[in-house]
Amino acid sequence: MRKPLVMGNWKMHGTRASVHKLLAGLVSEGAPASVDVAVCPVFVHIPLAVSLCEGSALAVGAQDCSHMAEGAYTGEVAAAMLVDSGCHWVILGHSERRQYHGESDDMVAAKLAAALAAGIAPVVCVGETRDEREAGEAEYTVARQLQGALRGQASLHSLVIAYEPVWAIGTGLTATPEQAQAMHAFIRGQLEALPGLDAAAVRVVYGGSVKPDNAAELFAQDDIDGALVGGASLDAQDFQAIVAAAQG
Ligand code: PEP
Repeated sequence: MRKPLVMGNWKMHGTRASVHKLLAGLVSEGAPASVDVAVCPVFVHIPLAVSLCEGSALAVGAQDCSHMAEGAYTGEVAAAMLVDSGCHWVILGHSERRQYHGESDDMVAAKLAAALAAGIAPVVCVGETRDEREAGEAEYTVARQLQGALRGQASLHSLVIAYEPVWAIGTGLTATPEQAQAMHAFIRGQLEALPGLDAAAVRVVYGGSVKPDNAAELFAQDDIDGALVGGASLDAQDFQAIVAAAQG
């Protein structure tokens, strides 16, 4: 039995005041014991979020980390620094990083290795573009991204995969529960081929315009173990409703 994970990706949004407001709502509501809940603010808001979430069931994550452990890498933040700041999670290979920052599969693999070495739990994002889906290449793309990131890693403890079809992110378009389930089952099949990994235990969460009104249907699918939520995670009520839907 996999425990659902609902994670808010706040992207490049917010002020200290809005972080206070959003977390006041989420922390006072609490999180059900049957669901792991996390929020991922921008780097500069992480210390504030960690202090506001202290003693609550909410964990804090980052949206990215460096592929290097430390050194002359201006502007980068190392995975160990995130751990030191109180982060439990890090999102890696988000499609916006791949699209706007040219992150390759090799770079995602290097970031994953750095995250695992630092002991932070990675959420590795994969997903096809609309063109790739229409060309019948969705599975090929996702398999390439998975292999590229995961193959050869020394250990994949605490790994979470987020399937985020690029055409569904921030567009209001959602994969149908059947489309999402089919890809999640495909992903689990790919994980089964990796040595030393218990694929049945790995959480595969869905991301792409998850909202309170579509979350329950998605979570009812056998291989959907929660959600990575963008836009709707900026509204405490909406995010709480998605968390509630994950309780089943
Ligand atoms: C995301 O960016 O990870 C995401 C899923 O965004 P949205 O929910 O807004 O589509």
